[in-house]
Amino acid sequence: MLTQKTIDKFTIHASEKFRLKDHDTTWAGDKQTGPLDSDALKKQAQEHLKQSVVDLSEAQELLYAADRWSVLVVFQAMDAAGKDGTIQHVLSGVNPAGCSVHSFKQPSSEELDHTFLWRHMTRVPERGRIGIFNRSYYEDVLVVKVHQNILANTRLTTDKFDKAFWNARYEDINNFEQHLVRNGTIVLKFFLNVSKTEQKKRFLKRLDTPEKQWKFNAGDVRERKFWDDYMIAYEEAINATSTKAAPWYVIPADNKWIMRMVVAEILATRIKDLGLKYPKISPQAMQELSLAKAELLAEK
Ligand code: ATP
Ligand code: MG
Repeated sequence: MLTQKTIDKFTIHASEKFRLKDHDTTWAGDKQTGPLDSDALKKQAQEHLKQSVVDLSEAQELLYAADRWSVLVVFQAMDAAGKDGTIQHVLSGVNPAGCSVHSFKQPSSEELDHTFLWRHMTRVPERGRIGIFNRSYYEDVLVVKVHQNILANTRLTTDKFDKAFWNARYEDINNFEQHLVRNGTIVLKFFLNVSKTEQKKRFLKRLDTPEKQWKFNAGDVRERKFWDDYMIAYEEAINATSTKAAPWYVIPADNKWIMRMVVAEILATRIKDLGLKYPKISPQAMQELSLAKAELLAEK
């Protein structure tokens, strides 16, 4: 199990100044010294993940039974950081009826006719459920900030995309998340922090492996040229939107199994921290249960 101290290390607290360079993408345990791609390390992380998947499954059942809280999990990352695989593995034990996954791509013209938060608001999880955002409204302060020409195609009422414009977007996001939190949604935001070198390795692997070639997108390689701009945008966004209500978690992503293990554990821990219990049955309902049982047993 990860210690609270380790979880704290990945948590960006509202009061701290977040610097990406302080976060090691290759972290694989405080005492880890061997190679990052060793089989032993993978096996160890997989074992750990297995336990967290069980914990998460139990936590989700309680969440569903309590029908009061919901959990919104946001994943943001550079291409090939492993968002899809993390979602797949971390949720592998969760009842599909109790969760939803939405992937946010370039907005449609209908979506652009609304504010940037609109399409997300309609997809936040219902009470009792876990909702996953595979990319999110954060794209509106990440890709859109890196490629500001995107905004030229929208019909915003301003064409001045200065510091005040981005600060207003961060503020809107903070207010939106605050609103969700106040109304019973836990908001967990994960930045899967992969290095540029590891991304290159993964792209090359996609190109060289027939079963992975379909995943390759030449546009992703072009986007890589903007790496430094993206890192600045991430740093600014994470600094501006790590709040007490909805902190960011910056997860080392150069080893996929370590990343999945850390995400699963944080998720399970945060839900378990709610201290949920199965709803108590009232004496009257208890009586109804006894009557129902007697009726079933009396069936011929
Ligand atoms: P994968 O490549 O693993 O399938 P992905 O999340 O990269 O997953 P893509 O279809 O490749 O999915 O890309 C979606 C693209 O949509 C991303 O490049 C993302 O930056 C872009 N996008 C998402 N939201 C917005 C937005 N609000 N404005 C502009 N672009 C956006
Ligand atoms: Mg992609």
